[in-house]
Amino acid sequence: MNATNPIYFVGAGPGDPELLTIKGRRLLDEADVIVYAGSLVNPALLTGLHARLHNSAGLNLDETSALLIEGYQRGNKVVRLHTGDPAIYGAIKEQMLRLDEENIPYAVVPGVTSATASAAALKAELTLPEISQTVIITRQAGRTPVPEKESLQLLASHQATMMIFLSVGMIDTVVSELMAGGYPATTPIAVVEKASWPDERTVSGTLATIARQIKEAGITKTAMIIVGEVLAGQLKSESKLYDKEFSHEFRQGS
Ligand code: SAH
Repeated sequence: MNATNPIYFVGAGPGDPELLTIKGRRLLDEADVIVYAGSLVNPALLTGLHARLHNSAGLNLDETSALLIEGYQRGNKVVRLHTGDPAIYGAIKEQMLRLDEENIPYAVVPGVTSATASAAALKAELTLPEISQTVIITRQAGRTPVPEKESLQLLASHQATMMIFLSVGMIDTVVSELMAGGYPATTPIAVVEKASWPDERTVSGTLATIARQIKEAGITKTAMIIVGEVLAGQLKSESKLYDKEFSHEFRQGS
């Protein structure tokens, strides 16, 4: 068998091929079989490889699992390539349970999630002192339901920074839930489409304006919604970390 080659779930990053880890790059270069999420993985990551390539977009879970399992059993190096970071809306758990049933070992290599790639596009810090120290990763319910306790309206009551995946096609509902939950209409909100791709677009506005802006821009998918006062471009206070009065393990304050 194949004890030295676990199956690797690899994060492909948000789009820019340079936003792949060095470990992910090595595993792709060495792979014999790659099953990739064709809807969002940049094909530029897959050029010049010797691996057999399988686009999972048209396959069901039985079919993708069979490709992974057969590759492993043949002694091949197998990579399952997921967009962004595999741990976030990656549907990896169901695949891992299939591998567990066959006693096949696997490991995960993280990737740059589109959440932080979108923050980079906006040059935003998601956690500002006295404004928000919490980031909520969530989505509007769609075909995949969201537990009632996690509705956008309830999460909005915290007025933390929120990164809303998979929801730009429901921007009207997103905005009305956020306002019903307590964000003022003046709260800054931004949408980043195709973060880190050559055709990346960002749209910034407020809860009062964003739905119209998104429709005018024609953005319907592959976009991150970021909402919160951290986008207002203001600071209430500077961080303690670099405060000249403040001592810590590595620096004596004055
Ligand atoms: N695991 C992925 C998310 C997969 S779910 C990650 O960590 O990024 C797919 C959703 O991710 C899309 O609907 C969109 O909300 C977001 N997304 C993926 N790539 C994106 C990109 N390049 N720019 C903005 N949003 C993106």
